[in-house]
Amino acid sequence: MTPVLYIVIPCYNEQEVLPITAPQFLAKIRQLTEAGKIAEESRVLFVNDGSKDRTWEIIRELAASDEHYLGISQSRNRGHQNAVLAGLMEAKDRCDITISIDCDGQDDINAMDAMVDEYLSGSEVVYGVRESRETDTFFKRTTAQGFYKFLSMMGAEVVYNHADYRLISARVLKEFAKFEEVNLFLRGLVPLVGFKSSSVYYKRAERLAGESHYPLRKMIALAVDGITSLSVKPLHLITGFGVFVAFLSFVGVLWALITALGGHTVAGWASTTCIVCFVSGVQLICLGILGEYIGKIYLEVKHRPRYIISERTWEK
Ligand code: UDP
Ligand code: MG
Repeated sequence: MTPVLYIVIPCYNEQEVLPITAPQFLAKIRQLTEAGKIAEESRVLFVNDGSKDRTWEIIRELAASDEHYLGISQSRNRGHQNAVLAGLMEAKDRCDITISIDCDGQDDINAMDAMVDEYLSGSEVVYGVRESRETDTFFKRTTAQGFYKFLSMMGAEVVYNHADYRLISARVLKEFAKFEEVNLFLRGLVPLVGFKSSSVYYKRAERLAGESHYPLRKMIALAVDGITSLSVKPLHLITGFGVFVAFLSFVGVLWALITALGGHTVAGWASTTCIVCFVSGVQLICLGILGEYIGKIYLEVKHRPRYIISERTWEK
C-alpha cells in the first residue's frame, strides 16, 4: 500500500517566500503521487507560528485554492520547534509518513524522493543532512559548525549538519508523543526514540526571500537549550572543575602557611585580589549553569501545553 505523506512546514512571517515555495511543495506531492510512491490523500500542512504579517491569510487562500493544501495556526508565536511539533502531532493520526521542512526553499525539496525511497526500503526516520554550506555566509557556516561540535562535546548527540528536515513515520511519532518534555530540541530528541534510521544528503541553498529568524543570539539560545535538555555533562564538568580549584586552593593555603611561618609575609594585595576575582567568577558561572537546569525543571514541572492550535483550514 502506498503511504500517505504529510509535508509539515512551519511559517513565521513568511509572506514573501510562501507564494514562491508553496507551489513547489504541491508539485512535489503531485510528482511523488504520479510516480506511485505516495497516496493521493497526501497533503502539504502549513503551521502558522503566530505570524504578524499576511502569512495566515496566504495559507487560507492556498487551502481554498487546492485541497492538497492544509493549514493550522498557533494561537501565538511559540518558536520554530513548537511549530514543527504542532504540525507533526496534528499530522500523525492522518498519515503514514511526515516530512518536516522549512518554508524558505533552503532545503532541497528534491531530496524528498530519496527520503520516501528510504522509508519504502524500511527506515522509519530519515535525516536530511547538508552536504555543503557553500551558500551560507562564512559567519553562519563557522558558527553553525561550532554549534554541532560544541553540542556533541557537551554530551548532546545530534546528527552532524542535520537540522529539521527529516522524514518521520507516524509509527515513530506515536511513540514520540509520549516524550512529554516542554523543552523541545527535536533534532536531539528524535534519535532517542530509536527505530531504524538513515540519512539523505542534499545541498543547502540560499533563502529564496525574506530574512533568517535565526541570528547568533537565537542560535546560542538553541544550543544552550539543546545541551541542557539532553545532557547533564555540564554539571559533571563544573564538579570536576570545582575539585580542581579546591586542589589549587589547598596548595595555596600550604604556600601561605609556609611563607607566614618563615616570617616572609608582605602586603599581598595583588595576589588576594586576583584570587578573589577568579574564584568568584568561577562560582558565578557554576551557579549560572545550575540555574539553567533549575529553570528547565521549573518549566517542566508546570507542564504547560506545548502548542495551542487556534485555527484550522478545515472542519475538525
Ligand atoms: N520559524 C517559525 N517560528 C519562529 C521562527 C522561525 O516557525 O519563531 C520557521 C520559519 O518560518 C522557517 C523555519 O522556521 O520556515 C526556519 O527559520 P529560518 O529560515 O528563519 O532559519 P534559518 O534557516 O536561517 O536557520
Ligand atoms: Mg532558513
